[in-house]
Amino acid sequence: KHKAIIIGSGIAGIAASIRLAVKGFEVTVFEANTYPGGKLAEIKLQGYRFDAGPSLFTLPEQVEELFRLAGKNPEDYFQYQKLDVACHYFWEDGKRVHAYGDIHAFAEEVETKLGEPAANVRKALKSAAYLYEHLAPLFMHRSLHQWNTWVNPQALRSYLRMGKLGIFDTMNGSNEKQFQQEKTVQLFNRYATYNGSNPYETPATLNIIPHLEFNIGAFFPNKGMHDITLSLYDLSKSLGVRYHFGKKVEEILVENNRAIGVKIGEESYFADTIINNMDMVNAYKTILSKQKQPKMLLDQPKSSSALIFYWGIKQEFPELDLHNILFSEDYKAEFEHIFQRRTIYHDPTVYINITSVYKKDDAPAGCMNWFTMINVPNNQGQDWDHLISEARKSIIAKINRVLKTDIEPLIAVEEILEPRSIESKTSSAQGALYGNSSNNRYAAFLRHANFSSDIKNLYFCGGSVHPGGGIPLCLLSAKIMTEMID
Ligand code: FAD
Repeated sequence: KHKAIIIGSGIAGIAASIRLAVKGFEVTVFEANTYPGGKLAEIKLQGYRFDAGPSLFTLPEQVEELFRLAGKNPEDYFQYQKLDVACHYFWEDGKRVHAYGDIHAFAEEVETKLGEPAANVRKALKSAAYLYEHLAPLFMHRSLHQWNTWVNPQALRSYLRMGKLGIFDTMNGSNEKQFQQEKTVQLFNRYATYNGSNPYETPATLNIIPHLEFNIGAFFPNKGMHDITLSLYDLSKSLGVRYHFGKKVEEILVENNRAIGVKIGEESYFADTIINNMDMVNAYKTILSKQKQPKMLLDQPKSSSALIFYWGIKQEFPELDLHNILFSEDYKAEFEHIFQRRTIYHDPTVYINITSVYKKDDAPAGCMNWFTMINVPNNQGQDWDHLISEARKSIIAKINRVLKTDIEPLIAVEEILEPRSIESKTSSAQGALYGNSSNNRYAAFLRHANFSSDIKNLYFCGGSVHPGGGIPLCLLSAKIMTEMID
């Protein structure tokens, strides 16, 4: 039997283990933490449960495909539901918008509440679908580093449409043309944050993202986001994958330009194929430090990070749903603070994710579990203790203004996740959530490939390599990568 070693049990590492086990490999996973899932973990605090990282679930078929590959019926192992309302949007002037999953209902809502002609919204979502049709086969489903991706009829059709695909405009520039109302522009600009980018810089091709949320749908796993990790982890174990927790790989062993194993403390472990799921920047600094460094790729600007307060709240707020956005009054200034000044704006956009709305046992009766997050710059050695204590005040003040209440006395328990702890818990360079940012139009080409061009038998998956960060893309990275391995 061929042997494979996977370094890291992030969601891409787990998916890769399933795909390789199905191919007949004997797979061993070494994970530095004591639990699987990396960023896709959970936190339990005095009767409250929180999904620690990702909260929005799109493209569930990427998860289902793994069960089917293993010959199992996904519904027996992993259940989820489509959201009727993808998000509740709040502004300080009292305006509120329900982003209904049904496109027509959403377009009507935006017309009624914001004065934006419904036809503009429908048209924007139609062009998002067009982008998806032309860009996904090229940029999401294939390696960008193999010639046959670029020389095939489908790719040629996409080249002919480059102008129409928004390569030459920014997301904000395109949205200002598509919509009449500032608030609609703001709502659609927010999709840049789904991969940690800046809507005022990122190309309009990222307008592909609303297609996922509206045309395909936003979903919620019935047992919470962490069930994506747990159900796939169980699946991989049922296929014979072996996990070793608390095992931090220190070096990828290379002999004659061929990866042959990994070193952990005094022990060496050998395999035919080595797969790295660790963030590439930190991987080259540590486990690949003796190898040639792809400096240009490693130096690319990273995506934004996050500051999260996990709050147990001793009250229920019926106006709050699973996903809630309390928008900043000045979105442009907020992003300038994150990406240029590298600090936190005093009026940040606050995202509150409350799984207890759907999964009642995530909070005690009459209470809610608030995952309260703002986008923040990645870690460049800022004075985080000071920034976090100031941001806590700004966030509470913002929520109080929008909900017309005083939430401070309602906070029963608190835990914090921030750029430094994101890096220390998952080895993500600078605590970035999604690897490299997509703030320039070449970003897709400046992510690391899914294989090493210098070292044989060495492959890569996860949010810091092609096709990028976020659960669906991480799962696709595992797919693209394993399809290269014989
Ligand atoms: P990671 O989760 O980065 O895990 C890597 C694993 O490798 C870790 O377990 C780490 O311990 C292990 N490791 C590292 N080095 C070593 C070593 N030397 N030896 C052994 N093990 C090692 N995505 C979405 O789709 N939707 C969202 O709503 C969303 N929101 C997010 C919110 C937050 C706060 C965060 C942090 C992320 C969010 N993301 C979201 C992004 C998503 O979580 C990531 O893109 C994805 O989970 C990354 O998976 P990965 O496979 O790259 O591995």
